Amino acid sequence: MNQPTRAPSIIEMFPEDTRESAALLKQAVPLMMRHDIPPNPMHYALWYTYSKGTEPELTRRLDKITKDFDSFPTETAAKLFRDYIIRGELEEARAGQQQIIELVDDIESDVSLSVQGGRNYQISLEQGLAALQEPFVDDLPNVLNDLQQSTQQMHDQQEKFLYRLRAAQDEIQHLRSQLERAHLAATLDSLTQVFNRHAFTRLLEQALNKGHPGLALVMLDIDHFKQFNDQYGHPLGDRVLQHVGQLLRDLLPPRAMAARYGGEEFCIILRECHDLASAHAFAEQLRIKIQSLRIKARRTDQILDSITASFGFALAEAGDTVESLLTRADDALYQAKRNGRNQARPSPTKAELSA
Ligand code: GH3
Ligand code: MG
Ligand code: MG
Repeated sequence: MNQPTRAPSIIEMFPEDTRESAALLKQAVPLMMRHDIPPNPMHYALWYTYSKGTEPELTRRLDKITKDFDSFPTETAAKLFRDYIIRGELEEARAGQQQIIELVDDIESDVSLSVQGGRNYQISLEQGLAALQEPFVDDLPNVLNDLQQSTQQMHDQQEKFLYRLRAAQDEIQHLRSQLERAHLAATLDSLTQVFNRHAFTRLLEQALNKGHPGLALVMLDIDHFKQFNDQYGHPLGDRVLQHVGQLLRDLLPPRAMAARYGGEEFCIILRECHDLASAHAFAEQLRIKIQSLRIKARRTDQILDSITASFGFALAEAGDTVESLLTRADDALYQAKRNGRNQARPSPTKAELSA
């Protein structure tokens, strides 16, 4: 089957090494600041690509929007992001789907050919058998010859069929990994390799709907991150986010999952966590690991100031929705910030809050 031509995948779109990408980001960030565009991953991707100049149509559209309008609506950015950045991934998924349809079509016609072949063979066997049962078979060599020929034909057809089935099996395997990659790209945050906000909200909603007992939500926000960016630059800020993502992946207990909820804010869903003390222990462990991170500036080898993060956590209760649980964890996080940062604070239960 012919592979359809496809747009480049995200990985293929950004082959630059650290030095090149830092240089591009240095061009992109002032442009974003000049046009008052909020620094979030979606906008970075657009203006980074703009600075590369590899998507002339995107360049033209961004130029036009910034020239004609005072603001840059999020919906417009989201559309450009879909059309010019993740386009390849979506097309890959669509192409995969189309290939599966064609493949199943092919298998179906092979199976009906094989079934038809089987029926014909059965008919020639019956005819041969009837001829052999005649009291006098005057044409015995011919009857046997016909039988041998149709058996050979059937055998060849089955061989061909088996060969095509095996080829189809390989192709299904290939398509499966292609779809898995596309699915992963759609649910992961590309910078930190933990789930993105969209996937996280969906997963939390599913978990709450199933009424899982022992679910806790931990929220963390890096302290004074704006200051860190101002002092060391955005590329190093991005590296901090990548380190936090890696720590989260390393420390996650079984069945837990982590997501980047916003710029420098992460959420963790803990399972089999039945009391605030267990959630607290996890948050503390993470807090200490983040504080102990030692990040070096690559060019100067200078060890940067420690990073700290503040945490809020809450246990899910009956009747909780994504929003109500997030709100409780977020309020606790706010208390941690107000209390001096670099600490983990529990949320009161719903009953305590309404008392
Ligand atoms: P606080 O301790 O109160 O949380 O202070 P803060 O400076 O961390 O909080 P604030 O919300 O004022 O600033 C968040 C900063 O996070 C601003 C923005 O520059 C930075 N940020 C958000 N997303 C990214 C990103 O993807 N990369 C980098 N390098 N910085 C980011
Ligand atoms: Mg924040
Ligand atoms: Mg912060």
